[in-house]
Amino acid sequence: MYLFKRVDQLREFLNGARTNNRTVGFVPTMGALHDGHLSLIKRSLAENQVTVASIFVNPTQFNEASDLDKYPRTPGKDLEKLAKVGCTVAFLPEVSDMYPEDLDTSLSIDFSPLDETMEGQERPGHFAGVAQVVKRLLDIVTPEYLYMGQKDFQQQLIVRDMTRQLSINTTVVTVPTVRETDGLAMSSRNVRLTDDHRQRATVLHQTLLSAKEKLAAGESPSAIENWAMQALQIPGFRPEYFTIVNADTLTPLPDTEDLPKRIVACTAVWASEVRLIDNMLLRGQL
Ligand code: AMP
Repeated sequence: MYLFKRVDQLREFLNGARTNNRTVGFVPTMGALHDGHLSLIKRSLAENQVTVASIFVNPTQFNEASDLDKYPRTPGKDLEKLAKVGCTVAFLPEVSDMYPEDLDTSLSIDFSPLDETMEGQERPGHFAGVAQVVKRLLDIVTPEYLYMGQKDFQQQLIVRDMTRQLSINTTVVTVPTVRETDGLAMSSRNVRLTDDHRQRATVLHQTLLSAKEKLAAGESPSAIENWAMQALQIPGFRPEYFTIVNADTLTPLPDTEDLPKRIVACTAVWASEVRLIDNMLLRGQL
């Protein structure tokens, strides 16, 4: 595996690697890698000759300084995991190289209605930061394929929208959420859960599964949302939102029989100081 820390070194390598119709797949991450991240990398390895994984804890997408400080960082272990699955290139840039003072990396893109609910509402500036870092990384890597996790459902829709609005020549591939055996969605933040909260964090997945059954049984989306907010209210846990929306536009559903083809339920729940998110398609496929 090649390891690059500098933008110019990575660019030079990719210029040389991109011959004979070879395609480049790209997986942006913030590190503290787990099997969820590795599933994106394996998918890219299966579909491209070159796979670049970046590890960069992007300061511009954190709306709380303490969350940025507490974000787990395990670069040594991450590199071992990447090498073990056969990743072609690991890219670990410095903040100063990602956002040089003499380069304007700011973006002003209108993502409405996609950024108006859920994470967009709860984490002001978050998606502007995500768009900024993904745009900068896409400029550097120029991949044919970009792999994003379903785990961050709203994020993959916004990144898709950005590539469309800016006519960026990359295909976004969304990879299903990888879960622990008890159903908890894998997340770098899970290591911060106490043993007790870790055990009970299955409530997110269980509530999403029940919501799917309830929608199939004909219950109204708003009744299910209300039920879910109660179900998530277990000791030590504080649900922030449980929202059932059109999975393509993230707009609310009509309380009629005339439901869209793809429906997603997304939730964010605080387990003490740790913020967990999860989602499930209640109708339709990825
Ligand atoms: P992060 O390091 O949290 O920014 O995540 C990097 C990428 O991995 C994003 O596209 C995430 O959606 C994806 N990802 C994170 N957790 C999972 C998971 N459990 N299953 C699938 N993809 C994931």
